[in-house]
Amino acid sequence: MILLARAIWSCKGSVVIDGALRICADAVVAVGSINEISPLRGEPVVDLGDSIILPAFVNAHCHLDYTGLAGRLNPGLSFTDWVDQIIEVKRSMTMDEQESSWLLGAQMLMESGCGMVFNIESVPGLFSRMVKQTPLQVCPFTELIGFDDGDDEHLVHLAKRELSENAQLSMVAGLAPHSPYTTTAKVLNTLAGYADQEGSPIAVHVSESEDEWEMFTAGSGALFDKMKGLGRIMGDCCFESPVQYFNHSGGAALRTLVVHANYLINEDFDFLAKPGLSVVHCPQSHSWFGYPEFEYKRLAKKGVNVCLGTDSLASSGRAESAFEELNMFDEMRKFKSRNPGIDIDDILDMATYNGAKAMGLERQLGQLREGMLANFSIIPFPKHLSDLKEAIISHEGCVSGLFIAGKHVFAGKQSIAD
Ligand SMILES: [Zn+2]
Repeated sequence: MILLARAIWSCKGSVVIDGALRICADAVVAVGSINEISPLRGEPVVDLGDSIILPAFVNAHCHLDYTGLAGRLNPGLSFTDWVDQIIEVKRSMTMDEQESSWLLGAQMLMESGCGMVFNIESVPGLFSRMVKQTPLQVCPFTELIGFDDGDDEHLVHLAKRELSENAQLSMVAGLAPHSPYTTTAKVLNTLAGYADQEGSPIAVHVSESEDEWEMFTAGSGALFDKMKGLGRIMGDCCFESPVQYFNHSGGAALRTLVVHANYLINEDFDFLAKPGLSVVHCPQSHSWFGYPEFEYKRLAKKGVNVCLGTDSLASSGRAESAFEELNMFDEMRKFKSRNPGIDIDDILDMATYNGAKAMGLERQLGQLREGMLANFSIIPFPKHLSDLKEAIISHEGCVSGLFIAGKHVFAGKQSIAD
């Protein structure tokens, strides 16, 4: 099949005006101009008119099961306040709510042009039940929390059980030691070793908040007290930045997603630039919590692979506000408003290719090139706009179409998994 569009943004630095995209089964066969790609005998041609075709987004961080919590939490006076709220609200969620939240989140992502998401799975077994009900490509990261050094054995056991199930149902299955503050150095180290042994990536929330910063740099503060009260052993908070704590604990696996990285010292930039490490930035959640400026320019200059994620709707909206969504266009726009000098090409790369690269999938998705998976979305190219990249980043609402692995899984407001 050939799809014709007014423009195709196939990857950073590559735009085809009056473009043609040939797909066959689950793959891209060719991308070029209408003049270069002519139909074979009997090959269907669909003219999408004033449209843009772009790679489906790769959302590098999400918690789908929190989608139903939109607007139910507030940033509170501190991050520790928010932790209290989420512990409470999670306890009150039924299995039905978790399942419907997960599916609602998956649908929101597809409607806004996302083809793959790296999702933190906090409920064992939830991913394997839900993933069969959506065409979204979900890479599950099993969440692991352990407050005591002795917890490592049972966490490896849980990791093993979940990985063996999840790996059969996803392109990549990973582990998510939750964060340095909800694990210990020994637990982080054991889990990183186990992930490497299994060839799995890990995702860890590191240096998200000021409270976490205080816990590790000063051995005090609200989060320190909170975690001590919950039974975490605290002797390993030895006056270093959260990223250095993570580094020195040997918590990084060969492929590691460091989520947030909001509070950094000079040495942290060198660590994050190591091959195999990526940083995930979630602009909307970052802004909701009111964190200081994300140091994108310094990270990018160091060569750090920075990806974009939506995080969850547990860090969005206000109780009285309108409906909130998981939407990578919104994340790109928020990032652009906070980082006005950054080229839109780079922002699009963060939302597509960089996520794929973080998982070692850059030859399969994140761009539209011959031989890659046919994961792409279609959005309108309004007649009054001449700048393609502006048209992409300013797009609001649903996409007009989404293909995942060559299947047309969303068409406007209707899902038509064919
Ligand atoms: Zn998260």
